[in-house]
Amino acid sequence: MIVIMEAHASDEEVAGVLDRVESLGFRAHPSAGSERTVIGVIGDERPVESELFEALPGVERVVRVLHPFKLASRDFHPADRVITLPNGAQLGGPKVLVMAGPCAVESREQLKATAEAVAAVGVRVLRGGAFKPRTSPYSFQGLGEKGLLLLREVADDLDLAVVTEVVTPEDVPLVARHAEILQVGARNMANYSLLRAVGDAGRPVILKRGLGATVDELLQAAEYVLAQGNPSVAVCERGIRTFETSTRFTLDINAVPVLKHLTSLPVVVDPSHATGRADLVGPVACAGVAAGADGLLVEVHANPQEARSDAAQALHPDQFAALMIRLARVAVAVGRQSA
Ligand code: PEP
Ligand code: MN
Repeated sequence: MIVIMEAHASDEEVAGVLDRVESLGFRAHPSAGSERTVIGVIGDERPVESELFEALPGVERVVRVLHPFKLASRDFHPADRVITLPNGAQLGGPKVLVMAGPCAVESREQLKATAEAVAAVGVRVLRGGAFKPRTSPYSFQGLGEKGLLLLREVADDLDLAVVTEVVTPEDVPLVARHAEILQVGARNMANYSLLRAVGDAGRPVILKRGLGATVDELLQAAEYVLAQGNPSVAVCERGIRTFETSTRFTLDINAVPVLKHLTSLPVVVDPSHATGRADLVGPVACAGVAAGADGLLVEVHANPQEARSDAAQALHPDQFAALMIRLARVAVAVGRQSA
């Protein structure tokens, strides 16, 4: 349930509603918008009587949210949410934020060459996996903490923010010390203890859609992070599993406008994992931006043939530079700007 305060409700009136929520044993999630404060009331399955709040001073109206996700819904937070990073880059603002880098951090040389190339064409956020959730236990699993240190060192030299995946709740504090954005991978979308841990980490989170998860399940997973008090969550469409085998996964392009309708969280598209093929990354990235994505996650490798993971989908820096030019045109065509 959502309590919508009057436009000129006083701080005391807001506090009065918060007290009532707490005294009933529910949790209050206030959100102060530019015009009015909205208070999300989250509890157990008990029905909350709206009369308990309607009569309080300063309350305009009480709205029941029918979606299973509450804090993630546009009803609760109508305005687009914007995540601002320490280097000033924004996810969810007027610019489409392109996050790029290798699938995995392999070495200082590899990371530096790739990061310099993407930074030179306007990228502000470096991606790279230090902890890799691989389908096979025999595949390269990432450099772990050493990879995090390399990401930090290389990113700092270029004034880039870092987005990197965290795979276990125990690693969250370590990864949060080195990265501006914590990524929860598709294989962990429904790992609820990990979602709670990233919710407590005080860092923005990019939550990827599970290979077989519905949009509704993705938003309920985002709700876990939001319910911990972390409002900085973006959701990522990275392809789902279908009967189609010509690509690695199938990008559910519908999910982009569907998500934009249901939630005000920023929406990211990952054309690299969705297609698994470097030649398809560009067109699908453009489609994502045309459909309304706020950001892209793109795999780039200074030397794609030598990549230790996901080599077939890695763009060479020259291909990536050409893509950035096309993306800027698409972004402008749909009323956005590109990084
Ligand atoms: C990744 O982005 O490095 C990754 C492993 O992606 P996903 O979780 O979408 O498979
Ligand atoms: Mn990858």
